[in-house]
Amino acid sequence: MSHEKKISDVFSDLEDFFNFIDECIGDVCFVVEEKKDNDQSNSGKLTNSEQKKSISSEKKQQVSIFETIIRECSKLPEPYTAIYQEKSKIIKEIAERIKYCKDCELYKGRTNAVPGDGNPNTYVVFVGEAPGYDEDKRGKPFVGKSGKLLNKLIEDILGLKREDVFITNVVRCRPPQNRTPDKKEIEACSHYLFEELDVIRPKLVVALGAPAAKVLLDKDEKISELRGNFYTRSDFTVFVTFHPAFVIRNPAYMEVLQEDFKKIKEFLQAI
Ligand code: URA
Repeated sequence: MSHEKKISDVFSDLEDFFNFIDECIGDVCFVVEEKKDNDQSNSGKLTNSEQKKSISSEKKQQVSIFETIIRECSKLPEPYTAIYQEKSKIIKEIAERIKYCKDCELYKGRTNAVPGDGNPNTYVVFVGEAPGYDEDKRGKPFVGKSGKLLNKLIEDILGLKREDVFITNVVRCRPPQNRTPDKKEIEACSHYLFEELDVIRPKLVVALGAPAAKVLLDKDEKISELRGNFYTRSDFTVFVTFHPAFVIRNPAYMEVLQEDFKKIKEFLQAI
C-alpha cells in the first residue's frame, strides 16, 4: 500500500539523518579523546601548539559546524524539528485517506469523517470510541461534552494542554444515534488507529472505554475489570479507563476517573 511505502521512505531518511549525527558525534569524540590523551601527556611529548596541530584544521572546522548545528537544532521549537515535521506529514496523509474512506457503511451518514488530532510527537495518545454529533459536524475528535471533560482532566491533572497530546478514535464516522460501533465497522476502521500509533510511537496509549480497550488489548474482559491497570505491549503500554461520556452519565464514577488520571500522570512523570 502507498502509505507503507511512504512510512518506510521517511524512516530511511531518518536513518540517514541519524548516521549523519553519528558522524558528527564521532568527530566530537575524536577531539575530546585527543585532548584527554594530551592532558595525560605532561611528560612533554607534545607542546600545546603541537597538540593543536594534531587535529587537522579541516577537522576542527567540521567539528565547529557540527557543534553549531547541534546547538541550533536544540533551540528549535518542537513544531520545527525534523522528527515533528516528518511525523506530522504522515499523520496528515492518513487523515486525508480517512476523510474519503468508504470501507464500511458508516460513511453514508457522515457529515465529516474524524481523523486523529494533536501533537504527533507526543508520549501519550488517548483513544475514544467513535465521533458523536459535535465531532461529526466539526471533523475533530472530542470537541463536545466528553471532549470538555477530557480537556479538563488533561489540563488539571496531567498539567498538559490538549495540543501536547494526540487524541483519536477506534472508528472515524459517527454511528447512527451514537450507537456503539459494531464488529464489522471496528474491523474495517481500526487499521487507521494502528497506522497513527506506528507513526507517533507513544509510550502510553490510554483506552477510553470498552471498544478502545478491546481493540488495543484484544481482550474480552469487561471494562470494569480492565480499568485502572497498565498493560505492557511490545510497542507501548496501554492504560484502560472509563469513557468520559460514561462518567458524564454516571457522575458517581468521576472520582475513579480522576484517580485513573493521577496514575497516568505518575506513569508520564517516570518516563
Ligand atoms: N466520543 C468518542 O468516543 N469520541 C469522540 O471523538 C467524541 C466522543
